[in-house]
Amino acid sequence: MNKRPIVAIDGPSGAGKSTISKLLAERLGFAHIDTGAMYRCVALAALRRGIDPGDEAALGALSLALNIEFRRRDGEQRVFLDGEDVSAAIRTPEVSLLTSRVSSVAGVRDNLVELQRRMGERGGVVLEGRDIGTVVFPRAEAKFFLTASARERGRRRYLELRDKGLVVDLETTIAEVEARDAADSSRRHSPLAQARDAVLIDSTGLSIEEVVARMEALVGACRAGREEA
Ligand code: C5P
Repeated sequence: MNKRPIVAIDGPSGAGKSTISKLLAERLGFAHIDTGAMYRCVALAALRRGIDPGDEAALGALSLALNIEFRRRDGEQRVFLDGEDVSAAIRTPEVSLLTSRVSSVAGVRDNLVELQRRMGERGGVVLEGRDIGTVVFPRAEAKFFLTASARERGRRRYLELRDKGLVVDLETTIAEVEARDAADSSRRHSPLAQARDAVLIDSTGLSIEEVVARMEALVGACRAGREEA
């Protein structure tokens, strides 16, 4: 029997990857792996342990020593770092900024990519990130590159942070989103890039439902094609 497909969703911050990947995984009955949350865990641990963000060797060693897991609790997927639920702690602006730096360290990427491959290799999984279709699973059966205008992405991030009770400013949030994009796209190791065979979806004028429906149809078509082959 064919293994169930691997679905790769890449794109810049605020494009709606998390919401959409979660919904798509639920519809397909697949597991959902938020690889950004894994990089965020390394940044959080580095912050807590006072590791210098410029110390690449220490960050690489840290990423290997941590135990990062996804577990379901009350119907929600949560992220655990060494047994502690850090789902909220990894979402602060401070951790977001540090994550961009931490994720540009080759040793950190090597360790997390390895872990992501182990988590997803059996298929039946939706992975979201920046380099899933290009580096982690270049042979994924379905690949999407999800984007939206920088203003729209900044606005969404701002609303999300405000809903969590954080005091934020719209223009600052847009500028932070743009800075993070620039860092993610220009870094030397696995920069944010659209895989040549990824389907580009611009979510600027689309509802969540429209995006999910489009992806679900494409994954369905790719499964049907594989069964025929
Ligand atoms: O997706 P999210 O915004 O939570 O990701 C946080 C950061 O983690 C990104 O800005 C990026 O620097 C990094 N990241 C990465 N590769 C991935 C996923 C996230 O470098 N596959």
